[in-house]
Amino acid sequence: MKVAIIGAGVVGIAAAHRLTEEGHAVTVFERASRAAEGASFAPGGLTGAGWHQPWRGPTRGFGTAASGAGTRLTLRGWPGLSRWGWLLQWRRQTPSARNDDDLAALHALSVRSQEVMAELQNRLQLDHDRSDGLLVLLRSRREQDWAQPVVARLRQWGTPCRELDAAAARQIEPALRADTPLAGAIELPAAGVANAREWALLVRQAALESGCRFEMGQAVSALVQRPQGGIEVQRAGLPGEPFDVVVLCNGTGARALLHDHGLRLPVMGVQACSVSAPLREPLDAPVSGVLDAATGISITRLGQRVRVSGGRLLSRADAPPDADTLRQLYDALLDWFPGAARMGGPRSSLQEWQATQAVLPEGPPLIGPTRVPGLWLNVGHGEAGWSQAGGAASLLADEMSGQAPTLDARPFLPTRRGL
Ligand SMILES: Cc1cc2nc3c(=O)[nH]c(=O)nc-3n(C[C@H](O)[C@H](O)[C@H](O)COP(=O)(O)OP(=O)(O)OC[C@H]3O[C@@H](n4cnc5c(N)ncnc54)[C@H](O)[C@@H]3O)c2cc1C
Repeated sequence: MKVAIIGAGVVGIAAAHRLTEEGHAVTVFERASRAAEGASFAPGGLTGAGWHQPWRGPTRGFGTAASGAGTRLTLRGWPGLSRWGWLLQWRRQTPSARNDDDLAALHALSVRSQEVMAELQNRLQLDHDRSDGLLVLLRSRREQDWAQPVVARLRQWGTPCRELDAAAARQIEPALRADTPLAGAIELPAAGVANAREWALLVRQAALESGCRFEMGQAVSALVQRPQGGIEVQRAGLPGEPFDVVVLCNGTGARALLHDHGLRLPVMGVQACSVSAPLREPLDAPVSGVLDAATGISITRLGQRVRVSGGRLLSRADAPPDADTLRQLYDALLDWFPGAARMGGPRSSLQEWQATQAVLPEGPPLIGPTRVPGLWLNVGHGEAGWSQAGGAASLLADEMSGQAPTLDARPFLPTRRGL
């Protein structure tokens, strides 16, 4: 089949590579001049199954100030009326029996991703910064209690996880600051850390070599259904190009392209930040990565750099990195790995970054065909798109070739949400 992928972030590139390998004639359209310049540029890098669970307790809420921690969504400015429906729906979703099925589906997607990524890694020998293992840090007895249902679920799903006391956690990550309160940790040996952007650039190259075409610096302005079947991809000032299938992997950008087809995509652009700094002293840095359960902030080692990442903001997509969120990231680094990064020196060696994630108010991402023939989705990966990209690509490929999918496709089907 002739397939167009819109968007060259980790999700689009994983899909393009997989579909090219399966024998489809794939073209990727990306509005930026380089790949992985959107949400995939400098994410925390947590991969694998288990980390993206509700470690932080049972409720979701809003904040307006610098609280930013945990399950809160910090509102920068008063949200317009059009955003309230999404906000209320998002707020209603609490980790409970109501959405156990959604959590299970997300978990299955991450597990599948892990398999796909490991297979690719072995086969292509990708040379990017990566490490195995992750600790979820629990500062107090209360946080240990919050973690219990998650641990029970992970065990039920057969995902390795180990409850550790503080001393055992410090053996795994010896540079954890000694005087920061730590009640214990959950070790996720099968999760890990990897550099999403490096991976995307390497896999893009592999896809190119397998015959995938990349049209960079090409914003898609419209998708038009053709009377004879298929979809025409339109770009400003260029002739339209027909495809059998178009897969939208362009995050919040998919909303506008679906609108003309009467499909309302319920994604919201939610911002998060990261700070990357050169290693000062490797012995004072994380061996792999940690996730602070209370704040959702991750601290990871990516080769010769340390990256701190977190926040959940409703602000402008083009806003500079949020000062309060950056302060929280610096505080978290000081709290857990005070000697890890070189903070002085030229300003250019520190990278402060903010990007927009496409977040659905509830449920797993949307992967598969819509009710418009030829129009497919792979969007709504929110805060865990790097961990889900490989699984999503494999699911798409199975569905497109009519094979029985390796994981249950139903929870991800756009048609389930009326799309
Ligand atoms: C601070 C931060 C930390 C994170 N940490 C983690 C983590 O530790 N682990 C994890 O799994 N996930 C993490 N995430 C989430 C993860 O980064 C995203 O879910 C993932 O990058 C989404 O990938 P994507 O390809 O869907 O989107 P993007 O990378 O945003 O790619 C979409 C692309 O579509 C292009 N595009 C949009 N509209 C058009 C158009 N009309 N025509 C052509 N091109 C178009 C854009 O230019 C963009 O390049 C984090 C995100 C942030 C911001």
